[in-house]
Amino acid sequence: MTVTPNSPAEAVSTPVDGVEVLGALSPSRAGDFLTCPLLYRFRVIDQLPEPTSVDAVRGTLVHKVLEDLFDLPATHRTPEQAAAMVEPTWQQMLEAEPGLAEGFEAAGAEIAEWLVACRRSVQTYFELEDPRRLEPAERESYVETVLDSKLLLRGFIDRVDISPEGLVRIVDYKSGRSPGEMFEARALFQMKFYALVLWRSRGVVPSLLQLIYLGNGEVLRYVPDEADLVACERKVEAIWRAIRACEESGDWQPRRGPLCAWCAHQALCPAWGGTPPPLPGRELT
Ligand code: SF4
Repeated sequence: MTVTPNSPAEAVSTPVDGVEVLGALSPSRAGDFLTCPLLYRFRVIDQLPEPTSVDAVRGTLVHKVLEDLFDLPATHRTPEQAAAMVEPTWQQMLEAEPGLAEGFEAAGAEIAEWLVACRRSVQTYFELEDPRRLEPAERESYVETVLDSKLLLRGFIDRVDISPEGLVRIVDYKSGRSPGEMFEARALFQMKFYALVLWRSRGVVPSLLQLIYLGNGEVLRYVPDEADLVACERKVEAIWRAIRACEESGDWQPRRGPLCAWCAHQALCPAWGGTPPPLPGRELT
């Protein structure tokens, strides 16, 4: 599998396990396009850099601690042990990417305070689940499937649990707070996307989709059925068609909304008085 992570839908033509692929989509990029086509363009086509977000790095660290926790024998998976893993995990991340510390300085963030927030998120996890009673089947699992339309769907699932009866549960950790109604559908879309990939690649409809919000200690659960996944497939195909139409026309419209407040590209966005750079490959000569 050699498709690059941010390939625009049209640019991918690499066979995946002998199957021809015309495009690729992950839940994050599909979500970007739904939020704002121009945001998708900035991230996928222009591949513009974005500043380090301390919240995003916290999410990465907390995910890693919760992933590694299950390497320990069940009796060692305690809140104290998990808290003790936070600092060494941060050091590992810094060794792999020294520039992370500079990103913190630029954001004016105090690392010591930030580590306290990371430990708090990890502790919240123990209020929601007892990892001593769990043996995940998969962690940070890469999944993919190619639809009949030759669209590759792919992504990483935080955790897959399989019961002795063969029931499949997909679990995703979120370091932030649970969404209001307006954003709940987007969070569930990501989970249905993963369920669709597992259904298409393994022939099993997952029994439960579970989002664990460590920011406020809430769990969102959803029981999908086949009709949900068929509807999700139609939606994903429609998103892909819309992306291809934008690629063909070069017309990536901004969609101003509440998420603009977190967008790193406001200065280049016409909805905020900016001018986007020329599209790669379409520069004036
Ligand atoms: S600022 Fe808002 S409208 Fe502009 S690109 Fe970002 S998300 Fe889209």
